[in-house]
Amino acid sequence: MVLYVEERVEELRSRLSLVESTLKTVEQDIWLAFSSAMNSGISPPIIYPSSTFQRLDSFLKSQKASLRRINLDAPVLESIQRLNDLNSNTNKLLTEIMRMQNVLSQRTAGTDVEKIIEYKVASQEFCMLSKSYDAVDALTYELVERILGFEWINQKKYYPISLFDYHGYLINLGSYIISVPYHDSFRCRFWPSLAHEVGHIFVYESSQKSNSLNELILSQVAELEGVLNFQASEIGVLNSATNQLIELASDALSVYVCPTAFLSAASLLYIPYEQSEASDGALARYFKTFSHPPIDSRLALMLNVLKYSGSLAQNKLFSEHGRRVMNFLGQRNLLGLTPTSADFIEDYERFVKIFSHEIVKIFPTLGINKFGENEWSSVRDAFLKQDYCPLSPVQLLTVAWLKRLTQIENSGLSTIGNYLDSRIHEEKAFEALVTLMHNYYDNYIIGKMGDHWHDIRYCPD
Ligand SMILES: [Zn+2]
Repeated sequence: MVLYVEERVEELRSRLSLVESTLKTVEQDIWLAFSSAMNSGISPPIIYPSSTFQRLDSFLKSQKASLRRINLDAPVLESIQRLNDLNSNTNKLLTEIMRMQNVLSQRTAGTDVEKIIEYKVASQEFCMLSKSYDAVDALTYELVERILGFEWINQKKYYPISLFDYHGYLINLGSYIISVPYHDSFRCRFWPSLAHEVGHIFVYESSQKSNSLNELILSQVAELEGVLNFQASEIGVLNSATNQLIELASDALSVYVCPTAFLSAASLLYIPYEQSEASDGALARYFKTFSHPPIDSRLALMLNVLKYSGSLAQNKLFSEHGRRVMNFLGQRNLLGLTPTSADFIEDYERFVKIFSHEIVKIFPTLGINKFGENEWSSVRDAFLKQDYCPLSPVQLLTVAWLKRLTQIENSGLSTIGNYLDSRIHEEKAFEALVTLMHNYYDNYIIGKMGDHWHDIRYCPD
């Protein structure tokens, strides 16, 4: 058995050194792509994210140190457990490195464009695609700025990195690489979903430093379990309740900073889902299996947050949209189940309401940058004058959604019926929107970088 452990230690050691050299190569390639573009005075295909590489590098070092600490005299089972952990961490690290590699190949060689379903529809040019990457990066950057703040950006030396891939909307908390699914690469009306992913960073970091948001979540876990107490003895409920609250908190952050676009994108995504007939047993299974809350309760939470923070009343079209979603929810219940199945649905609805109320109260104390009244007035101005240049990506998406809601309104169809995808007709709007967001990226993000990019040192040590 000791021989087995020795062999596996050896195997892991060689894997880790392979990972190390791959990391260096990817880092060098990205640095080269970035610095040569900057030296020639053109926009780089990707900003070299020194902090991401630092994080990946220190993770690699910690794995190497753990491997060195494996004691061959320790009980075999203990060593095997540690080797398994090391192995899975090494796999995670390798995945992140490959994702960085993919980001670069997408942006320099257009790799995987065939997986982007609307690529040919929207434009044959690679130019439009590269603008889309910039647009997603610009939006992500703004969302980070609004939710996590400038200080966080400076501290972490953060630069946005987004990847179009098979996963849904996703963020890796180790590397901050954000994913947009291929099928939404050219459908920017869904991009507000990125706010939810950025929200996850905030919620995660709150749990590390125990601020008021974390306290709220922890106290509500007990509440939620109380509501769902018919199944409290089942294993996994605690974890599920915590996860549900993390998801709700990320949704709340999203509508707080990106009201119109996030609610509209979310209702477009969620409303077509059918509610299901279910017994208490099925509900118990639901809360054990799914990390995300039922879609209806997510929408109800968003509407509550918008109402309590005053955003819903800021725009007529938007409040009308909110009213429709509310009416729609009124015909269902927040657990997504037939109401006869359980008595606690009312308690659950009350729970969602109280949670929304409490969370809106603490946001201003946490420095979250709400979509404020002055922004609403810039949006109204731009909408009237048809001049969108001074707007930020979140504001641009707000205008775009308001326009879309106008069309829905004018067509006289019911909201839900007309929520069917009309993407072919949105091609022009997409190009205009992405070009504006790309300009924002060039002027604001790259422009800012242009002054001090020489400070970004590449040190492959
Ligand atoms: Zn989530």
